[in-house]
Amino acid sequence: MSEILNVEEIFGSKVFSLGKMKERLPEEVYNELVSIMEHGGELTRAAANVVAKAMKDWAMENGATHYTHWFQPLTGITAEKHDAFVTHPDKEGKMLMEFSGKELIKGEPDASSFPSGGLRATFEARGYTTWDITSPAFIKETATGPTLCIPTAFCSYTGEALDKKTPLLRSMEALDKQALRILRLFGNIEAKKVIPCVGAEQEYFIIDAKKALKREDIIFAGRTLYGAPAPKGQEMDDHYFGVIRERVGGFMHDVNVELWKLGVTAKTQHNEAAPAQHELAPIYETANVAVDHNQLVMETLKRVAGKHSLRCMLHEKPFAGVNGSGKHNNWSITTDTGLNLLEPGKKPNENTQFLLVLACIMKAVDTHADLLRQSASNVGNDLRLGGYEAPPAIISMFLGEQLEDVVAQLVETGHADSLKKGEVLKTGVSTLPDFVKDATDRNRTSPFAFTGNKFEFRMVGSEDSIGSPNITLNAIVAEAFCEAADRLEAAEDFDEAVHNLIKEYMSKHQRIIFNGNGYAKEWTEEAARRGLPNIPTMVEAVETLTTKKAIRLFEKFGIFTEAELHSRAEILYEIYAKTINIEALTMLDMANKQMIPAVVKFAKALADTTVTVKMAGGDASVSKSLLKEVTAKLTAMKKAAERLQKVEDAGAQMARGKEQAFYYRNKVVTAMNELRLPADELEKMVDKEFWPFPTYSDLLFEV
Ligand code: ADP
Ligand code: MG
Repeated sequence: MSEILNVEEIFGSKVFSLGKMKERLPEEVYNELVSIMEHGGELTRAAANVVAKAMKDWAMENGATHYTHWFQPLTGITAEKHDAFVTHPDKEGKMLMEFSGKELIKGEPDASSFPSGGLRATFEARGYTTWDITSPAFIKETATGPTLCIPTAFCSYTGEALDKKTPLLRSMEALDKQALRILRLFGNIEAKKVIPCVGAEQEYFIIDAKKALKREDIIFAGRTLYGAPAPKGQEMDDHYFGVIRERVGGFMHDVNVELWKLGVTAKTQHNEAAPAQHELAPIYETANVAVDHNQLVMETLKRVAGKHSLRCMLHEKPFAGVNGSGKHNNWSITTDTGLNLLEPGKKPNENTQFLLVLACIMKAVDTHADLLRQSASNVGNDLRLGGYEAPPAIISMFLGEQLEDVVAQLVETGHADSLKKGEVLKTGVSTLPDFVKDATDRNRTSPFAFTGNKFEFRMVGSEDSIGSPNITLNAIVAEAFCEAADRLEAAEDFDEAVHNLIKEYMSKHQRIIFNGNGYAKEWTEEAARRGLPNIPTMVEAVETLTTKKAIRLFEKFGIFTEAELHSRAEILYEIYAKTINIEALTMLDMANKQMIPAVVKFAKALADTTVTVKMAGGDASVSKSLLKEVTAKLTAMKKAAERLQKVEDAGAQMARGKEQAFYYRNKVVTAMNELRLPADELEKMVDKEFWPFPTYSDLLFEV
C-alpha cells in the first residue's frame, strides 16, 4: 500500500502565502502589505526589511540557501539568477545569512542578453526586476536545492517593460478601472475592485526520454521534423479519456504533488485525443497569478517527466498527422465581492448589466479580432491553427443557442422577450434521472466560446505564456467598457441609453458570432464574406501590433507605449526567423549525417543482395526494383537538402527583422516541407534495422 497523502497539509507548503505572512509579520507590516495588494502603493523600506527577514527565515527553515528574482522576459519562458543569502564573514570568520528589503524589492540582472527589440541599447544593459507583491513568493525544489523564488516584473532603466508581467498588471488595472465605472452605473457601490480570473487548461505529450534523446529534432526543435505516420493514429478515439497508463499515471501523481506544494490547484487530468497526449487543468484564479502558475505548471511537467525518464513535449505540433496541443484560456471578470460579470443568471434576456457586458465584449472582440489572433500566435501554433483538430486562424465568438437567440431578438426588435430553454435530455432508463441540457451548450470548434459564465479562448498555443492573450483580452474589453461608460455617464435617461447602446453594439458586431462548425471549409468563405480577418501565420499577425488602432488602444490605457509595441514586433520577427533557422539546420544535420548515410547503406545492402541472389540463380527482381525506387527517392532527398541549404544560407545572411521573418516563412519553411516529403517516404521503405532513430510508432505508442 502506498502512503496516504495529506493534500490539505502539503497544499501551499512551499508558498509564502498571506496566511504565513500574517503569522510571521507584525500586524502593521502585514496590514501595509495587504493594503498595497488591494489598492496599490509602495512598501516602505522599513517594512520591506521586516518582510524580507521573515521571508528568508521561512525559506531557510525549508532548506533554501538561495533566492532569485523570478521573471518572464520576452523569450516566453521564465528566467532566474540565483543569489545565496551568504554575506561577508566577520573577523572571526563567522557568516550570517541575510536578505534585505532592498534585495527583496529590486534586482539588477544584467539585461543585455534578454530580447529588448532595440529598447535598451546593449551599452545600457541595466534592467530592473521589481517584486510583484500580488503574486506570492515560493520555494522551488530542484537539483540545485530549494530556492526562494520572488515573482518580479522586468523593466529597462527608463521604465519600459521588457517582460510579460508588467503589461499584464497594467492591463488588469485598466480593466479594473473601466469595469468599476460600468458597475457604478448600475448602482453597485459595494465593489471596490474588479479582477480578471483565468484558468488555463494545459495540453502536452509524454514520450520516453531515452527514445526522445535519439532524435535531434526533439532535442533542438522540441518537435519532430521528420516522421512517417504510424499505422495507427487517433482514428479509433481510444485514447481520449482512456485509462491512464501506469507509467504516465506515476508521473501525473508526482506532478500534482509538486504543484500542490507550490499552491497550484492542479484539479483535472486526463488523456487527450492524440496518442501520448494528456491534459492538466488547475482551478481558475487572479489573472497574473494564473500566468505565473501556468509557467510553473510547464516547468514542473518538464522537470518531473525527467525524473521518470520521460520527456514532456509542450510544442504545439510535436507530431504531424495527429492532434496538436493548445491551451484553453478560460477568462472571466469578477468583483472583490464575488460577483462574476459574465454570469448570465436565470434570465439573461432581462439582465441588462450582463447584456451590456456581453455587448461590450462582442464589440471588443470584433474590433480587435486581429490583436486577439496575434496574442495567440507563436511559431509552433502556425502548424496547429487551421488544422482539422484546432480552431481556425479566424476569430469568431460562440454564444450558444440561447444567447445567440437573445442577441438576435435584441438586434431585431430592441427587446428580448423570450428565452429558449435548455431541452430535457431523456436517458430512457427509469433509474437514471433525466436532466436539463446546458443551454450554453458546447462547441469545440470555436476559438472563443462562451461556456456558462466565462469565455474560453482556445486558440492559445500550448508552449506559449498566457500573458499576451490575457493582456489583450483585458485591454480590448477595458476599451469597450470605457467607451460605453463615457456615453452612459453622459446620458440623461440611463435606461433608454443603455437599451440603445446594447442594441447598437450587438447590431454592429453581430458578424463576430458564429455557432457553426469552425473546422469546416465553408466557414473560411463565410468569414471572408463577413469581412472578418483571416491571418494565416505568426509573421502576418505581428503586423497587427503596430497598427494605428493598436497603438491608440494600448497607449490610451497605459499598457504599451508605441516604442514598446515596436520593440515587441521586432522581437517576434527575430524569434520567428531564429526558430525556423534552428529547425532548418536540424533537418539538414539529420538528413546529411544520419538519414542519407543510412539509406546509402540500405541501398548497398539491396545492391549486394541483388547481385548475390542473381548469381546464385534466384529471382532478384524484388530487391532490384526496391533498389531503383530507394535510390530515386534518395536522389530527390539529396536535391531537396541542397536546396534547403541554399535558401537557409541566404536567410541567415539577411538583416534581422520583418523581411527576414517573411523570407523564412515563405522560402525556408517551403524548402523544409519539400525535404520532409521524400525523407518520410524513405522511412516507410527502408529496413527498420537501418533507420537511424525512433519512429512515430516507437515514440507514440511505447511509453
Ligand atoms: P471544460 O469543460 O472546458 O474542461 P471546466 O468547467 O472544467 O471546463 O473548466 C475548465 C477551466 O476553466 C478550469 O481551469 C476552471 O477552473 C476554469 N474556470 C471555471 N470557471 C471559471 C471562471 N468563472 N473564470 C475563469 N475560469 C474558470
Ligand atoms: Mg475547456
